Amino acid sequence: MPLDHWSNLSSGEMLVLESVFWSKAASRHEVATRLHLSKSKANALIADLLAQGLLQETGPGPASTGRPAETLCLSNALGILLAIDIGATCMSIAALTPSLLVLAQCREDVDVRDAQQGPTVVLARIKVLALRLLEQCGKRAKDVLAIGIGVPGPVNFENAQMVSPPLMPGWGDFSIRDFMRDSFEAPVFVDNDVNIQAIGELRQQQGTSNFLVLKVGTGIGCGIVCDGKIFRGATGSAGDVGHICVDTSGPHCHCGNTGCLETMAARPAVERQAWEAMEREDSQVLRRHAGEQGMLTLAAVGAASREGDMEANRIIQRAGSLVGQMLASVVNFFNPSHVFLTGSVVTVGPLFLASVRQSVYQRSLALSTRNLHVQYSSLGDAAGLTGAGVLAMQEFLKSRRLHR
Ligand SMILES: [Zn+2]
Repeated sequence: MPLDHWSNLSSGEMLVLESVFWSKAASRHEVATRLHLSKSKANALIADLLAQGLLQETGPGPASTGRPAETLCLSNALGILLAIDIGATCMSIAALTPSLLVLAQCREDVDVRDAQQGPTVVLARIKVLALRLLEQCGKRAKDVLAIGIGVPGPVNFENAQMVSPPLMPGWGDFSIRDFMRDSFEAPVFVDNDVNIQAIGELRQQQGTSNFLVLKVGTGIGCGIVCDGKIFRGATGSAGDVGHICVDTSGPHCHCGNTGCLETMAARPAVERQAWEAMEREDSQVLRRHAGEQGMLTLAAVGAASREGDMEANRIIQRAGSLVGQMLASVVNFFNPSHVFLTGSVVTVGPLFLASVRQSVYQRSLALSTRNLHVQYSSLGDAAGLTGAGVLAMQEFLKSRRLHR
């Protein structure tokens, strides 16, 4: 849809579009209730948006009593969303409908820590893959409505640039937006990878408005949702909990300090500790897994744990306990209703989650944990791409409403 058409929409119509997007499958009644509109006013706005082809009906929703109401979603005719999730070691790209149904997606290994590559090489490859996905859907670059990108480091959200990313040489102050603009006219929104997962969770968890998403992978970071909005802080580095000290005599961290949580509980730390345990000949099981693979990966540590290996279990428990130690302070400070765990270390086995929970409940104030749920992210592997899609759509709608 041409951009100038959006400026003809009333603020009431824009609010209905945003409400329908956030509620996933809304009935007319729910839209009216959410926006505090009379039934007749909401019906008139919705009828108008249906006639313009901006909304579409998706069929009857679940009925509590009587005839089920028709539910609404954003029209596929609005365009395509490109969702891009760049991790430290791999990247995923998807073409989505405006209501986030996946039309095509792909995944490829990447090493953003490699100074030889840098943003121009990585983003040029992303462009090639994105155009290929569009082609698979029978679409072209001009059909893209908005682009959402998650990156593993701190971001200045306003100018869509990374700020001194510790692990990504060459990305600091590089204009991702300008680079993408050469191939796509659509607006580009960039945020930290954990923030985009929190945005995805915000749409998934209808009505939950104060929570944390904690990612424990190659690094450790936290997305903060406060009063239903992402909280980014004064300079975009809110939630950088990986560098909270959990042991003053712990190992040195790349940030210059010692005993940061990341150096003791992130994936490289777990793999290193497992290797050290194997070298001490503490674990025949770990040695066998190393023998099969030539290295000790997180998956090997998880497999050894499932076989009941004491050393693997001790390492996972310790990582979970340290994460819980940090979380207990954060929970006391922020009082969230939920903490959603995500990232490769979280999937190593149930022992990790159990250790995090035990540590959090032991160390937090009873008042903070009375209604606290510490659980896995409901979005699983799709969290990054879903979040990038939500970011793209919500920021596009918001910008159209504000720039009318
Ligand atoms: Zn550090």
